[in-house]
Parts: sequence; C-alpha cells; structure tokens
Amino acid sequence: MAIRRIREMGDEILEKVCKEVPKMTLRTSVLIDDMLDTMYDAMGVGLAAPQVGILKRIVVIDVGAGPLVLINPEILETSGEQTGEEGCLSVPGKYGIVTRPEHVKFRALNEQMEEYEMEAEGLLARAVCHELDHLDGHLYVDKTEDGLHDVENGDDEA
Ligand code: ZN
Repeated sequence: MAIRRIREMGDEILEKVCKEVPKMTLRTSVLIDDMLDTMYDAMGVGLAAPQVGILKRIVVIDVGAGPLVLINPEILETSGEQTGEEGCLSVPGKYGIVTRPEHVKFRALNEQMEEYEMEAEGLLARAVCHELDHLDGHLYVDKTEDGLHDVENGDDEA
C-alpha cells in the first residue's frame, strides 16, 4: 500500500490509450490497492491508472458508497443528461461545467477478474464516464461548456 504520484495535465501519459488487463497479477493487485490509497489521500472520488502513470484499463471509484474497482470497463447503455461541475485530480484547483449522461449501465471485471454489470446514476454515472475517458487519453477539459474555473477546495475531483 502506497501513495503514488498523480500525473498532471501536460504529462503526455494522460493522452495515451490504455491496454486491457489480461489477468490479475500481484503487480496489478498492488497497483489497485495503491490507486485506492492515492485516491483517498487526494480526497478524490475516482482515479484511473494512467493518472498514476500506468497505461492499464483500471479505474477505482468511491462516491461515498464504498470502493469500486473497474477493470477493462465498458459502457453498455447511457440515458438522460446531467450538467454540472466536474474536476480532476490531474487538473488540480480547477473545475468546469460538463454535461454527462444521467444514467449509465456498464460492465467491468472486479479485482478477482469476475465480470459484473452495474447501473449508475448521478455522481456515480458522471465518475464512470470521466474515468473511462482517462483510459482513452481524454481529459474533461475538452468537454467543458465555458472553460476552466478556479476552486477553493479540492472536493469531488476525479
Ligand atoms: Zn480525472
């Protein structure tokens, strides 16, 4: 268990496409534990592997309902729309207004490499979309309606 350094916008690793995880290894298991530690330490609600410099399709999320691990995640369905503030641990001190689906159904593998499906709404749906974008090298800053704004606190960064 360790805190890893969070890569910030401008680091080219955040613009790369991540590779699928073929099987669980000790190294990957340690990475997931470290990602959770790093996310909680930074008071974020989500973290994707490229944010700690690893190009694997792994995301951790906790919007207050306990930790979720998403390996090789895939969005199956989206519906509705929500427009609100969004931040990112890789873009510290900033937020932007981003429109996302209100509901998302996704499929992923858990830490035991067991497949599961989950329906998410609200903040969780937003976090899933935001984190999956990271796996394809996309940051929310390209989706804001009116650019970036400064924040005083670091809550809800992902
Ligand atoms: Zn982010």
